[in-house]
Amino acid sequence: MAQGPRGFKLKNVVFIGPPGAGKGTQAAILDDMFSFCHVSTGDLLRAEIAKGSELGNKIKTVMDNGQLVSDDLVAELLKANIDLSSKQYIFDGFPRNVSQAEIFQEEIMDKSEYLAVLFDVDTDKLVDRIVNRRVSSDGAHIYNLKTNPPKVDGVCDVSGLPLVQRKDDTEEVVRNRMNVYLSETKPLVEYYKSKNKLKSVDADLNIDEVTKQIASFLNN
Ligand code: AMP
Repeated sequence: MAQGPRGFKLKNVVFIGPPGAGKGTQAAILDDMFSFCHVSTGDLLRAEIAKGSELGNKIKTVMDNGQLVSDDLVAELLKANIDLSSKQYIFDGFPRNVSQAEIFQEEIMDKSEYLAVLFDVDTDKLVDRIVNRRVSSDGAHIYNLKTNPPKVDGVCDVSGLPLVQRKDDTEEVVRNRMNVYLSETKPLVEYYKSKNKLKSVDADLNIDEVTKQIASFLNN
């Protein structure tokens, strides 16, 4: 297998976990450390909404309620934004259900190598984690008011942009998103286990420990 940056084997990584488990935070760290490209379908969809198109408005209604956008639409958006021939990716937020996992395997990965990493976390703690989440207004940097606050209130340390709360990070919508995770996304755990592709990380640990665990999987 080809070698990636710093001697890592060149492979792609799929992050699976409930909202607020730390997938975006870890993807940003690994992106910096090991030259992965972080691709988040949530970010791609938010970018589509920001265009103010008719399609964007439809997506917004679905997302604001914490439901899943259609499989075909998300898959097309994803395919248009990746280049597997020259880059290795962290897929954050896709696949989100078993039918997306099949599209992923057959139409996106084809013969490329990948590994699925489950962010194993006590879901009861997550609502509190998410309602305290703030992101820079361009969505690039993630903070938590309790566990990872910015140096200056309301301002991103890196970009200086204002910090905002995502519309779907309110308690009611988060509870919907958690139910969608349990019914739609969690079955992927068995799916990837049966394909021998699943690694699990204890996402209740602190940010550095979680990074170390994931890095150890990448090297094996
Ligand atoms: P995230 O940023 O991953 O928390 O995703 C935010 C929202 O975007 C989700 O609650 C869904 O409405 C939508 N979304 C993101 N990824 C997908 C996907 N793979 N399939 C369907 N909907 C998605």
